[in-house]
Amino acid sequence: YAKKKGRNNYQFFNAAMNRRAVERQFIEVGLRRALEAQEFSLYYQPKVNLKTGKITGVEALLRWHHPERGLMLPGDFVSIAEDCGLIVPISRWVLREACRQTKLWLEAGFKPISTAVNISALAFHNQNFLQDLRDILQETALDPACLELELTESVLMPDSQFSNEILQTLKSIGVKLAIDDFGTGYSSLSYLQEFPIDVLKIDQSFVRGIPELARNRIIVTAVTGMGISLKYRVIAEGVETRKQFSFLTSLECDEGQGNYFSPPLAADRCTRLLKTGIAENLLH
Ligand code: C2E
Ligand code: MG
Ligand code: MG
Ligand code: MG
Repeated sequence: YAKKKGRNNYQFFNAAMNRRAVERQFIEVGLRRALEAQEFSLYYQPKVNLKTGKITGVEALLRWHHPERGLMLPGDFVSIAEDCGLIVPISRWVLREACRQTKLWLEAGFKPISTAVNISALAFHNQNFLQDLRDILQETALDPACLELELTESVLMPDSQFSNEILQTLKSIGVKLAIDDFGTGYSSLSYLQEFPIDVLKIDQSFVRGIPELARNRIIVTAVTGMGISLKYRVIAEGVETRKQFSFLTSLECDEGQGNYFSPPLAADRCTRLLKTGIAENLLH
């Protein structure tokens, strides 16, 4: 009601709404200088082959080192960056930085390794997205097969024909495509017929509590089985315990990712982990 009456009518704003608006404004102002001030970094979380224990790749996760607030997670600022359009230049930076680092790892002899990058809806639907990606691949001289793009169902579904055209082009460039947070979005299975996807990442909300939690156990069993039968690489997110790990292995799920193997690490710490090539927990 306050909104309808226009910007000058503050009387219906309660204190909480006001605090939220001030907070958003604070984040937005900070985001506007964060790129130039080099306040972003990427953390990398390994993905582990559940049969061999070998690290097959990493997922790049954006971090913001805020001068006053310290380390901030994507949940604190990505949706605000989307609302004010800043996600487009930020995404370009993420992609370039992830490709640059992956190239360094490949040159250091860590093979095979691929890096997954999360792509937000606005970045995906930006008209320069494909050209930016081509430029970055060329600039960094990274083999496109070593780059995986993680897309959520909500990125793809609103305009599935448009999305499909982009995905086909991405396939022809040679990058790998993953559906992130599988099962949580629009949850239509039809895009599995439509889209040229390589990887299904089962959302961590389903992995939680398995195998004891019957509902999640049944969902994870069914989704993994379907994914394998349809020839996707299936990755379970948010693996935190040995029990979850063992159960996923018994399902012949391809890969796992989560704090059980390793939390997301700054690049130099990730390099040290890659030198061992194997998730430490699996050795015990
Ligand atoms: P996501 O792509 O599903 O990434 C997995 C999230 O789970 C990460 O949170 C990761 O730190 C967290 N995680 C990893 N292992 C565990 C575990 O064992 N247990 C639990 N409970 N959580 C675990 P993070 O880094 O806070 O990122 C949150 C989301 O923000 C990501 O979800 C992704 O959707 C988005 N995001 C991250 N980096 C970027 C980026 O560069 N660009 C865009 N557009 N979005 C990003
Ligand atoms: Mg992801
Ligand atoms: Mg995910
Ligand atoms: Mg998730």
